[in-house]
Amino acid sequence: MLEIRGLMVFYENALAINNINLNCQGEKVTGVFGANSAGKSTLMYTISGIILDVKKKEEMKGGERITVLGSIAFDGMDITHMKPSERARRGIILCPERRRIFPESSTLENLKIGAYLATSIQAKKTLDYVFTIFPPLKNLKNREGGFLSGGEQQMLAIGRALMAQPKLLLLDEPLLGLSPLMEVMLARSIRDINAQTGISILITEQYARPILPIVHYGYILENGGAVLQGTSQELMENPDVKSAYFGL
Ligand code: ATP
Repeated sequence: MLEIRGLMVFYENALAINNINLNCQGEKVTGVFGANSAGKSTLMYTISGIILDVKKKEEMKGGERITVLGSIAFDGMDITHMKPSERARRGIILCPERRRIFPESSTLENLKIGAYLATSIQAKKTLDYVFTIFPPLKNLKNREGGFLSGGEQQMLAIGRALMAQPKLLLLDEPLLGLSPLMEVMLARSIRDINAQTGISILITEQYARPILPIVHYGYILENGGAVLQGTSQELMENPDVKSAYFGL
């Protein structure tokens, strides 16, 4: 469903993404693992198209020059130069790093904001689903987003992205800053969302545990390049991955 070929992204002369080829298969979970600054967020911005907005803004204010080379195809269509809003309409929805919920809006308002691409029937159905997959949110419907715990905010961020009716959900470091228990619970919910809805998921994380076991296929990113790839099993059995990403 998503095919990335020869992708390169430069911030001025600094190479952030170095010749990446990456596929996301329909109805599967794909993982991208890499340390700080490996290029995970840049990859997500490039797939969602937000990088094109940043590029335009930088050009208007005479800031840094951002260059994107290579190609991205989604469901067989070249989307490399497509506006982010158009990509969202086609089902590519980004749940950004650090959650970015609206802190002064209630849980329910945050979720409804996410439904801007949904019909009212879809919105109602998805809202019910969000409360099923993330039960704590149901009791926190009227609480301001800013007063939710980190884990609850992450549930809300994923819930809001689901409200936008994704075909491909991009989760950028969803476990960042959460407790080990919450990490395990969220990883399970992400796996369940994929299994129950068939939504394809691309997920980035710094640490392989506990996401690597729930992906179907994964890539290891180093300095902007994909240095290793394989099924979850293959990566888990790889000695380099074990030592670098599991501390074994
Ligand atoms: P983190 O885990 O810290 O979020 P990341 O894997 O998401 O890291 P990116 O944020 O994509 O990595 O950064 C990739 C590289 O691009 C880094 O070297 C970073 O310093 C650089 N970079 C990111 N954004 C910009 C920018 N706006 N201008 C210049 N360089 C940038």
